[in-house]
Amino acid sequence: MFPRAESAGGGHGALRGRRRAPGVQSRCLGGSLAPTPPAGPGHTDPQRRRAGTGSSSRVPRGCDGTVAPGAEAGGRATMSCWGCCGRPGGGGAASHAWGYGPEDGPERWHERFPLARGRRQSPVDIRAQDTRYDAALRPLHFSYGAAAARRVANSGHTLQVQFGGGAALAGGPLDGPYRLAQLHLHWGSGPEQGSEHTLEGRRFPAELHLVHWRARDGRLSRAMSRPDGLAVVAVLLRLGRPCPGLEPLLGALGSVRTRGTEAPAPALQPRELLPAGGDFWTYPGSLTTPPLLESVTWLVLREPVEVGAEQLGALRGLLSSAAGEPPRPLQDNWRPCQALHGRELRANFR
Ligand SMILES: [Zn+2]
Repeated sequence: MFPRAESAGGGHGALRGRRRAPGVQSRCLGGSLAPTPPAGPGHTDPQRRRAGTGSSSRVPRGCDGTVAPGAEAGGRATMSCWGCCGRPGGGGAASHAWGYGPEDGPERWHERFPLARGRRQSPVDIRAQDTRYDAALRPLHFSYGAAAARRVANSGHTLQVQFGGGAALAGGPLDGPYRLAQLHLHWGSGPEQGSEHTLEGRRFPAELHLVHWRARDGRLSRAMSRPDGLAVVAVLLRLGRPCPGLEPLLGALGSVRTRGTEAPAPALQPRELLPAGGDFWTYPGSLTTPPLLESVTWLVLREPVEVGAEQLGALRGLLSSAAGEPPRPLQDNWRPCQALHGRELRANFR
């Protein structure tokens, strides 16, 4: 039976919407406070230093793992894409027909994925003028105590950890519990960029996504096809002290340096990657990678978590190229902000 959402005990249970200026407290659990360095320019700046991410001209290997790991109803952990691949783990040319480089990057995704020009796309820039306080939003309730990380993988587009059953999210605007399927990261080639969501145009050097699917839909693949079948928690990472919660994951990077590689997951506790504060914004959006399905309720946490420069450097050492190919750094795997098209962001804080 799927566990009901309840406090994981210690760490993070129900997070309450404590009022706090953005960035005042930004450590991950177990970390400590440190001054905040200035962030980079606004998202409207089209200049992005690309370091060779993107699809290879060679026959691609492995699944792109855009996201979905196999936290399906049976709990079996398999690698699969969001539906772009014909077979789990096998990939296929279509699933690798996109990347983050000039030839196959976000500006060209619409050629193969017309939904890229949809009216409910993500990420977005979060601005006060587009945000409304909603007193009806409940605290987010993370039940991550039983989270079981299974596999860590380099998809060529991101670093991803997939989870088995047991961890769940509820509360906020969500109607019932959502199961944790996987987490992955987006990062830049330097500290001035890397996040997908931006705050008043401010970028962060990285962003963590925790992907959940609605339990009552029975399986991830079904949830993905529904307007509110997925719930993704976004944690903005800012430069500061090292995040202890990331260390187990970073210790496994040597096993997944190239695209298409995977390894048993380290002892990663996702609740240790969450900030202490419970303030969040929510809006209806999409996956930020092809196939860009508009099935996501986004929950962007207001309080960033600190990450060390060396930790970011370790991520930048991953490769988007497969073994045997000329090495290409896996960097700048972020999509620029998309138009709101009249969407409203709701906040659980004033
Ligand atoms: Zn993501």
